[in-house]
Amino acid sequence: MNTVATESRPDGYVITPPAQATLSIADSAELFPVHRVYCVGRNYAAHAVEMGHDPDKEPPFFFQKNPDNLVPDATSFPYPKASKDVHHEVELLVALKSGGDDIAVEDALDCVYGYGVSLDMTRRDLQGEMKKLGRPWEIGKAFEMSAPAGPLYPVSKIGHPTDGDIWLKINEETRQSGDLNQMIWKTAEMISILSTLFTLQPGDVIMTGTPAGVGPVQRGDRMHAHVAGVGDLHLTVD
Ligand code: MN
Repeated sequence: MNTVATESRPDGYVITPPAQATLSIADSAELFPVHRVYCVGRNYAAHAVEMGHDPDKEPPFFFQKNPDNLVPDATSFPYPKASKDVHHEVELLVALKSGGDDIAVEDALDCVYGYGVSLDMTRRDLQGEMKKLGRPWEIGKAFEMSAPAGPLYPVSKIGHPTDGDIWLKINEETRQSGDLNQMIWKTAEMISILSTLFTLQPGDVIMTGTPAGVGPVQRGDRMHAHVAGVGDLHLTVD
């Protein structure tokens, strides 16, 4: 058994406070502090079809990862325990600098600080069992190191990406391929809808769904994720 303990703590706390989860910012030493991680399911029609669902525009659905599942500037992905079928999902990540309730679609992009490339790594076998049983997805989605992410690019530098390639290669071979313009729910719509369900906060991030072509990774694989106008993420599966 492994235990985690700390030997000293600041005054006023019974244990040492957990570290603030962060993302890095391109060409900057400053950090983006993360509050929550919202994820959107089935946001590209072709991926909805490959997962056995109707691609028609249904209301989006959401799940969450834990802020400390994010791995800023990840260069490796440790193959997680408890699974034999871990899948890659390349996603555009949206980072919010402001939030609120019931945000209008036309105001929603004003909340965005910037964008990054991320991976929604998924223990597909565990997620599949939970789906079958009608149970929550956390054990499939919200595990340690399950959200590798590249640096954020501020809106002031790249604007709001709405089209362009999003793809993932493994060992130089294309596995996932799509275009940001294939997102069923656009960034502004996702922010607006999420804000009817939750009070969005500065520091919230949204992983916006994955294009078709998800599949398993193996130890030793080299993953290369790309979002046009946003950047690249290179990592190995350890
Ligand atoms: Mn996903």
